Amino acid sequence: MKELESFEVPRYVLFGPGAALKLGDILSKIGAKKVVVITGPTASRRIAEAISSQVEGVDFAIISTEEMVKMKTDQDVVVGIGGGKPLDLAKVTAYVNKKPLIVIPTSASHDGIASPYVSYVLNRKLSEYGKIAVSPLAILADTKIIMGAPPRLLRAGIGDLLGKAVSVRDWALAHRVKGEDYSEYAAILAKASYNIVARNAAKISEFKQEEDVRTLVKALIGCGVAMGIAGSSRPCSGSEHLFAHAVELYAEENGVRDIVHGELVALGAIIMAYLHGMNWRRLKQVVKKAGLPTRLKDAGIDKDVAVHALTTAHKLRPDRYTILGESGLSRDAAERALEATGLI
Ligand code: ZN
Repeated sequence: MKELESFEVPRYVLFGPGAALKLGDILSKIGAKKVVVITGPTASRRIAEAISSQVEGVDFAIISTEEMVKMKTDQDVVVGIGGGKPLDLAKVTAYVNKKPLIVIPTSASHDGIASPYVSYVLNRKLSEYGKIAVSPLAILADTKIIMGAPPRLLRAGIGDLLGKAVSVRDWALAHRVKGEDYSEYAAILAKASYNIVARNAAKISEFKQEEDVRTLVKALIGCGVAMGIAGSSRPCSGSEHLFAHAVELYAEENGVRDIVHGELVALGAIIMAYLHGMNWRRLKQVVKKAGLPTRLKDAGIDKDVAVHALTTAHKLRPDRYTILGESGLSRDAAERALEATGLI
């Protein structure tokens, strides 16, 4: 007999200019009176203050990530306003306290803005909580606010999406080789997000028009929904993400700054497409068109870091079978892949 299937997706998804101003409506729909807002220390805090000042009859406690001391809260709702870190900490807070979560991204640099999951590095640090997963009740993606994000971060959002060309291939591979559960629907949804940005890469990469940001945001939200349907980040995170996570871990441990998740994902995708025997040249072309780095050094890493990442990435998520297999790449193979794809 077939097992019961279930999935969680956001109930309210609003995007476009002024979406953040609908926060009051959402809060009154769910009857929330006391809200904790988790935001960044500077720019996103100003945005958070402006948004909350528009809402009447609700008691807001605004906390920036730097001021956070504990994850406990007795407020009715957790609202995350900001980029990666504030949204991740808002997810953890909502998860730990079993409270509804509303996210208002101020950037669109990765698919975490709409996904139930937090970044790999953070979840690893908070491993005592197990797998942190909380599907947002509402996502208010205000394109007017997001347009103000640094273009490098927005382009990184395209990079994160370009990785889906590989992640869905890894998933299908794991399905064939390991008999892993596979949802064709979730895979197609993730791949559709790739297709949309790949087709428009050159046009949207300047982020001059609201519709460019809107295309990116919609595609990122699509990925968040794909993860909700799959019940894991599987459709959106394969070997290209393992490479990015390995670099991020190395960076965290060695104080390397100025790396951006989506740029690493795009580079990882080129390497893994090569290993899969896919048309990596075409993918590299798209990465270039999107204005993303196609050389390691332009993404803030050198060959040694990349080789280290390529030879250790398979160990990060042993349950997640990918083209890297169970024993990973040898040093020689890693160097060959970097040379063959022209990343060094
Ligand atoms: Zn990502």
